[in-house]
Amino acid sequence: MSQTILQYHGVHAHYGAIHALRGVDLTVNQGEIVTLIGANGAGKSTLMMTLFGKPVASAGKIEYRGDDITRTPTHKISRQGLALVPEGRRIFARMTVLENLQMGGCFSDPQHHAADLQRIFGMFPILEQRLQQRAGTLSGGEQQMLAIGRALMSRPQLLLLDEPSLGLAPLYIKQVFRIIRELNERDGMTILLVEQNAHHALNVAHRGYVLQHGEIVLTGSGEELLASEEVRAAYLEGS
Ligand code: ATP
Repeated sequence: MSQTILQYHGVHAHYGAIHALRGVDLTVNQGEIVTLIGANGAGKSTLMMTLFGKPVASAGKIEYRGDDITRTPTHKISRQGLALVPEGRRIFARMTVLENLQMGGCFSDPQHHAADLQRIFGMFPILEQRLQQRAGTLSGGEQQMLAIGRALMSRPQLLLLDEPSLGLAPLYIKQVFRIIRELNERDGMTILLVEQNAHHALNVAHRGYVLQHGEIVLTGSGEELLASEEVRAAYLEGS
């Protein structure tokens, strides 16, 4: 059996009086793409952000490669092989494309930077053409490529993607999911993918979880969830 990289045990999270996660159990094994789907406000981003202590889980435990990281400070987590591509991308708008990529590599060995940049340009040729352009002037799709490239510069063992297809044109959506599959198949990268685009996400994922009002209500392989009546009715109609 493959090694477990990430495990949530009965995790709860609150924002003041709002009970956003209600006892979540979730596992990500080495080499898997795991997706978390759910409606707006279900708690998907919260689940991902509890990894970085934003918010800190109010009960339960989060283990990363066997270590309890429930209360580990954010700056330490980022050095342990976790990289997040946040919802809305959050690139550094005033910096150039190159500077953004360099920021992504600030915790990794500088000896690897040139090779890592080349690998990223191979995946996203547009970034190489726009190296000196201010990141804030890139199109939405290009900014998403940059956000993924920036995360890859840290050589993550676990890549976390929060709604990478949100707001993108169909062509870019296709490209994002192709890259996710490629990173997993070619580089063996382990990926946790939060998505509202259930159809694409379940197609690319080995396993998935459905989150509803802060609780996991369904889990299974990507194929099983795609075929599930419940998932079809709630998340796939019209997609
Ligand atoms: P979306 O797909 O719309 O991004 P989501 O599934 O990622 O939604 P979360 O953003 O995790 O959902 O939100 C879960 C719940 O917590 C929602 O009710 C939301 O309003 C609430 N919430 C999220 N962030 C905060 C915050 N900073 N302060 C207060 N409430 C919050």
